[in-house]
Amino acid sequence: MSMLCRVRPELAAFRAYASARRSGFEARIRLDANECPWDRHEDGDDIDAGLNRYPSPQPQDLRARLAKLYDVDPRRLWLGRGSDEAIDLLLRAFCRAGRDNVVALDPTFGMYRIGAQLQGAEYRALALSADDDFAFDADRLLALTDADTKLVIVCSPNNPTGALYHDARIEQLAAQLAGRALLVVDEAYIEFAGVASATALIDRHDNIAVLRTLSKVHALAGARVGALIAREEIADLIGRISAPYPLPSPSVRAALGAVLDEVALARTQKRIATLLIERARVADALAASLLVRKVWPSAGNFLLVRFADARDAFARLLDAGILVRDFSAQSGLTGCLRITVGRPDENDALLDACAAPSPPTASSLGERAGVRGRGSNESQRLAHSESPPPRLALSTGFAGGEGKAAEPNP
Ligand code: PMP
Repeated sequence: MSMLCRVRPELAAFRAYASARRSGFEARIRLDANECPWDRHEDGDDIDAGLNRYPSPQPQDLRARLAKLYDVDPRRLWLGRGSDEAIDLLLRAFCRAGRDNVVALDPTFGMYRIGAQLQGAEYRALALSADDDFAFDADRLLALTDADTKLVIVCSPNNPTGALYHDARIEQLAAQLAGRALLVVDEAYIEFAGVASATALIDRHDNIAVLRTLSKVHALAGARVGALIAREEIADLIGRISAPYPLPSPSVRAALGAVLDEVALARTQKRIATLLIERARVADALAASLLVRKVWPSAGNFLLVRFADARDAFARLLDAGILVRDFSAQSGLTGCLRITVGRPDENDALLDACAAPSPPTASSLGERAGVRGRGSNESQRLAHSESPPPRLALSTGFAGGEGKAAEPNP
C-alpha cells in the first residue's frame, strides 16, 4: 500500500504552484517570470552570473550527482534547504493539526518537536536513559504509536548523544509500521558512522524516508542543501508542496563543487578520516580530565560529555574562546555539553581548557576511575578496527544488524 494513503487527505492530489521554471520550456528570450533582464554580473558587480534568473526547482545535474553519491534512483530524491526543510515538509504533508501524532526518541534532534508543534501535531517521545548509553527498545517505541501516528523518527547517529541505531531494528520498525506510518531515518551524521544507509531498505519498504545533508561532512552548512530519499510518490509529493524555488543558485553551485568528482570526494574522505582520529583522541583526553564525569561513545562528529559542573565548564571554555552546546538543562542530560569535533588545533585548545587546575576530590576520583576505561574504548575500537574509514559512496547493502552495524552504540 502506498504511503500516500496516510498523507493529509486534502494534500494527496495537491497541485503544485505552476512556477515559471516548472513549465520545462526553454527559450532564448525569457519573458515568463517577471525577472530583471539585466545580469548584475555583466555590470561588473562581484556577483555570480545568472542570478537575475530564478533557479531550477530541482536542478537535474545536482540531483543526478547526489543520486549517484547516495546510490539511489534520482526520482526518489528531493532536494531542499537542508534536511530541516524536509523534516518540516514531511510533518506538513502527513500530520493533520490537532489529530495526528509523531513519535521519536528523547533526547534527539530538537527540530522534530518544533516542527510538530508548528504543525499542531502531538509529539510523543520515548525517553532514553543516559545510564543505559541511550539504548532504545523498538517495542517500546512502537507502543507509543496508535492509529493517528503518521511519522516515527529515528535519528541515527543520534544528535546529541552520538548513539547509532542502524541495525535490524530499522527494518523491523518499518515492517511493523507498514501501511500506518512513515519511518523517517535521519542520517545527517551517517558518514561518520561507517555503516550502510537505510536507503537500501526503500526497495522493500514503501514507508521509509531517509534524510541526508551536505551540511556536515561536505562542509556546506551555509549553503543549506539537504535531501529526502523516499519512494517516488513521497518525493514527488514533497516537491509539490515545497516552495517553488527551494534551492538558491549559489548553493546549487557550491553543492555541485562539493560532490563534483573523485578529487572533491577524496578531500571529503580525508576529512572524515581525520575527524574520526580526532574524535577518538578528544574522547580519550576528555575522559581523563578531572572536570569530566563521562564521555559517551559517538558515531557522529561530536561528543556528548557529562561534566562535574557543566556551567563552570561552559564558562571556562567560553573564556578560552570556545563555544560548545549546553544540554545540561534538558531532562536526562544533567551536566551534559555537546562538543563538536573540530580541527586538530581547535581540539588542542579545547583539551587545554579542560585541563583542570584544581585537585580532584575523593568522590570525583572514584567516579572518574570508571570513566577512564570507558573513554579509552573509543580509541581502542578505532585502533583495533581493521576496516578503513567509511567510504563516501555508501553501499546499498544494508547491514541489517550484522557486522559493524550490529554494535548498537560504538
Ligand atoms: N538532522 C540532524 C540530526 C541534525 O543534527 C541537523 C542539524 N544539526 C539536521 C538534521 C539539519 O541539518 P541541515 O538542515 O543543515 O541539513
